Amino acid sequence: MSERSVIIVGAGLGGLECGLLLARSGWQVTVLEQGLQPGGAFQTFVRGGHRFDTGFHYAGGIDGVWAPLLRCFSLDSLPWHRLDEEAVEDIYIEDRKYCHPSGYGRFADAFSPLFGAAPVQAYLGLLRQVGEGKGHDTVGVSALDYLSALHPDPAFARVLGGASLRQALSPRLPLYSFARVQQAFIQGGWKLPGGGKTLIDRLLSSLEKAGGRVLCGQSVQEILLRDGKACGVRTATGESWFCDAVIADIHPSGLAGLVPSLRKSYRERMASLQNTRGVFTTHILLKKNCLPYVNRSIHIHRSAAGIWQGEGMMVHYYVPSDGGSRAEAVDILTTCPAPPEDGYAAWKEQLSAACIEQASQYITGLKEAVDQVFTSTPRTWERYTATPGGSAFGLVKDCTAPHLTFLSPKTPVPGLLLTGQNLALHGLPGVSMTALYTCSELLGKQIITDIL
Ligand SMILES: Cc1cc2nc3c(=O)[nH]c(=O)nc-3n(C[C@H](O)[C@H](O)[C@H](O)COP(=O)(O)OP(=O)(O)OC[C@H]3O[C@@H](n4cnc5c(N)ncnc54)[C@H](O)[C@@H]3O)c2cc1C
Repeated sequence: MSERSVIIVGAGLGGLECGLLLARSGWQVTVLEQGLQPGGAFQTFVRGGHRFDTGFHYAGGIDGVWAPLLRCFSLDSLPWHRLDEEAVEDIYIEDRKYCHPSGYGRFADAFSPLFGAAPVQAYLGLLRQVGEGKGHDTVGVSALDYLSALHPDPAFARVLGGASLRQALSPRLPLYSFARVQQAFIQGGWKLPGGGKTLIDRLLSSLEKAGGRVLCGQSVQEILLRDGKACGVRTATGESWFCDAVIADIHPSGLAGLVPSLRKSYRERMASLQNTRGVFTTHILLKKNCLPYVNRSIHIHRSAAGIWQGEGMMVHYYVPSDGGSRAEAVDILTTCPAPPEDGYAAWKEQLSAACIEQASQYITGLKEAVDQVFTSTPRTWERYTATPGGSAFGLVKDCTAPHLTFLSPKTPVPGLLLTGQNLALHGLPGVSMTALYTCSELLGKQIITDIL
C-alpha cells in the first residue's frame, strides 16, 4: 500500500469521488472545502421542513451505461427512484406536447410516426454506438448540424433537444457530448429521495471508512510549490498543509489566483474559456394535498427558437416523502442572464412570479397550490461554490475547438491535477467519469479499464 498523501481543494462531487478512490487505494486523503457544508452543487437546504436540492435533480442511465461507474463509488445501492417509462419527460414546445419515453423501442414508437422511421433509427443507432463506448469521432461534429442533416424539419432537432435543462445546448455543442447524455436518459431517468444530500452523505461515509477526511470552512488561498512541483496548500487562516499531490475540484480559471507562478499562456487560455449560463430556480413548497405528484420532469418552451440557444424551463417534482400521490414541493428551473446589481430582490420576486405564471399554463392547479416560495440565482451559486458567474454546467464545449474546450486533468504544474464538471461533462455521470480519469493520473490508467 502506498502512503502518499493528497490534498483535494473543494468537496464538490468531483473532489469527494477522487478522495474516495484514492483513499481506497491507500492514499492519505484530506479534502478542504471553503463552504460550511460539503457537496458543492449537490448541497441541499431545508425550508418549511422540506429539503430542497440546489443543483442535482435527476439523472439518466443509473442502472445502464453508468452503473459500473456508480458501483465504483458505492452509489448504485442508493434508493434510486425510476421515472415513468412511457415518459421520463413531458416536453412542451409552444402548443404541442411530446413525451420522451425510456427504452429504444418505446422511443422509436413515439417518434417514428412523427418524423419517419429512417432518421429516428439513424439517431438511435448513434446513441447505441456511444453507449458502447464508440463514437468519439463525433466530438468535432455539431449536434445541431447532425440532427438538422438527419431531418430537414427543424422540429426534429427541437424535439430531441427539448429536455434542454439537462445540458447547455448550443449550436456548437459537440454531438458526442449531446449523445452521451441522451443515451443515458433513453435507458431511463432517475430521481433520488433526499436528493443530493443522500448521495453526498454516502460518499462522506465511504470516504471516512476508507480513512479520508473532509474539513469544511477551509478556503484554499494558495497552492504551494517546491522546485516547481505542487507540495501543499495554504488556507485563509494562514495554515499550510503539505502533501505529495494536489487535486483542484474548482473552476480552472481559479487556478490563476492559487498559483501565482502559473504559466501565462495557460492562465490566459483558462480565462478566455466561455462558461455556460446560470440557472434561476424557484423552489416551491406546496399546500398539502393540492397538486398531484407527476413522476416525470416537465420541460417547457414557450418559443421553439430558444431551444438550441440553451434556453428553457423545467419543472421538477420532488418524490413525496410518504410515497403517496400528492406533490409536496416542486422546483422550476430556468436559464437566466446575470442578475442585476440594483434591485436584486425585486428582480428575484418578479422572475419567480413569471416562472410560476408560465409553468401554470401547462400544469393545472400549480399556481393555486403554492404555499411558500424561495429562490436561488447564479449569484447564489457564485457565492456558495465560487463558480464564475454562477455557471450551471461549467465551461462551454465547442465542436469547432474540442482541443481547447475539453480539458486534461493535467496542469502545467507537476503534482497538481484538475477534476470536476469543467473538464469534460457535467452532472453525476460526467463528474464521476472525470474523477476516474483524474485519479488514473495517480493510480495508473489500468483503473479505467478495471472499473468500466
Ligand atoms: C441549477 C443546476 C441544476 C443541475 N441539475 C443537475 C441534475 O439534475 N443532474 C445532474 O447530474 N447534475 C445537475 N447539475 C450539475 C451538477 O450539479 C454539477 O455538474 C456538479 O455538482 C459539479 O460538481 P463539481 O465537483 O465539478 O463542482 P462543484 O459542485 O462546484 O464543487 C466545487 C467545490 O469546490 C469548493 N471550492 C471552490 N474554491 C475553493 C477553494 N479555494 N478552497 C476550498 N474549496 C473551494 C466549492 O465551494 C465547491 O464546494 C446541475 C447544476 C445546477 C447549477
